[in-house]
Amino acid sequence: MKKFIIVGKGLAAHCLMHQFYRHNINFVCIGEASLSTSSKVAAGIWNPVVFKRMTASWMADVLVPSLESFYSDCEKRLNTTLIHSRQLIKPFTEDQEKVLWQKKAAAGLNAFLDTNIYDPQSEHHALIIKNQYGLVKQAGNLNINAFIDAGEEYFKANIITEVFDYTSLSIHPNHVSYKNIEAENILFCEGYLVKNNPYFKWIPLVPAKGETLIIRGLGLGLKDFIFNKDGFVMDLGNDHYKVGATYEWKELNDKTSTKGLKSLEDKIQRISQAPYQIVKQEAGVRPSSLDRRPIIGKHPKYPHLHIFNGLGAKGVMLAPFFTENFVHFYLQKTGLHPEVDVKRFYQLYEPSA
Ligand SMILES: Cc1cc2nc3c(=O)[nH]c(=O)nc-3n(C[C@H](O)[C@H](O)[C@H](O)COP(=O)(O)OP(=O)(O)OC[C@H]3O[C@@H](n4cnc5c(N)ncnc54)[C@H](O)[C@@H]3O)c2cc1C
Repeated sequence: MKKFIIVGKGLAAHCLMHQFYRHNINFVCIGEASLSTSSKVAAGIWNPVVFKRMTASWMADVLVPSLESFYSDCEKRLNTTLIHSRQLIKPFTEDQEKVLWQKKAAAGLNAFLDTNIYDPQSEHHALIIKNQYGLVKQAGNLNINAFIDAGEEYFKANIITEVFDYTSLSIHPNHVSYKNIEAENILFCEGYLVKNNPYFKWIPLVPAKGETLIIRGLGLGLKDFIFNKDGFVMDLGNDHYKVGATYEWKELNDKTSTKGLKSLEDKIQRISQAPYQIVKQEAGVRPSSLDRRPIIGKHPKYPHLHIFNGLGAKGVMLAPFFTENFVHFYLQKTGLHPEVDVKRFYQLYEPSA
């Protein structure tokens, strides 16, 4: 009998596979990646600062070291480069913003904000930066596609590629069974498609669709930097750039739109006048939660059913620490972090489900 069936094939499922492997917990993963493309289209950026409030991102001091150590360990296991540390270029729109930046860089956010203020056009000259700007430290990006593709290969003996059929799941007093697989537990990581899961459809997600472009030809030379203003521009190598992302809460699907395209092209116009070609437009739906925290833990009625969801727009930062938290919780070494425990939403569960 397996210890776990994991359902899903996105970032959450892949981080869990590595954590289970590290802790010698046997598992089978069932997923069909084409159902939801959020992880596949994500830029994979981690940013420890919330610019709107000029504060550290929730738990950034813990999450950044945790992600660096986790993905480095995965790099060794998968024998490929996955993470790239880069500074974020953050232009100031007004003087007050600069003053606040300087204050926070001196104390409070000194771990994450460079104390220097840079003049427009000084160093990153191919970008149109009208005002002065600052640099965020301890940021970077994970190549999520490479992480998932290499994980698919590494764990291929444990992965079944198929659409999970909820009607084939049987719940027994001490285990679950799915078709011919028996396991002590099942862990659902379907992203926003949890809305189709009869056992967990009540968890309060507020999914947000996002679109991105891959373009060629701006000649920005942003290799060790990510431009961050109303979204991002990230160098992919060979004069290719990823530009994003839009936010849309009504049309929740993985289809690209002309509205998304226009918004992204406008973004590019504001930062460079160089000619470029569009290589690809992509879309996905972020599994964001009502209170912007992950949603993790046991089903209120069936203790062998578990959920790992709600990674929202920050999955790359959140997944390493909280997949480990989940495993420690399962091994009864620690409790779940109270702000992520699905228990906080138990009042939304109707026992018929
Ligand atoms: C445009 C865009 C840009 C983003 N940029 C960033 C970024 O820069 N940094 C960052 O940290 N995050 C970013 N995100 C968010 C990031 O994508 C998510 O936090 C993360 O990928 C969510 O992973 P997940 O595994 O929870 O969900 P998903 O990626 O949605 O994965 C769910 C998986 O479950 C599968 N599945 C669902 N139902 C079934 C079923 N019944 N049977 C079989 N399989 C099933 C799906 O096909 C999919 O493979 C971005 C998202 C978007 C849309």
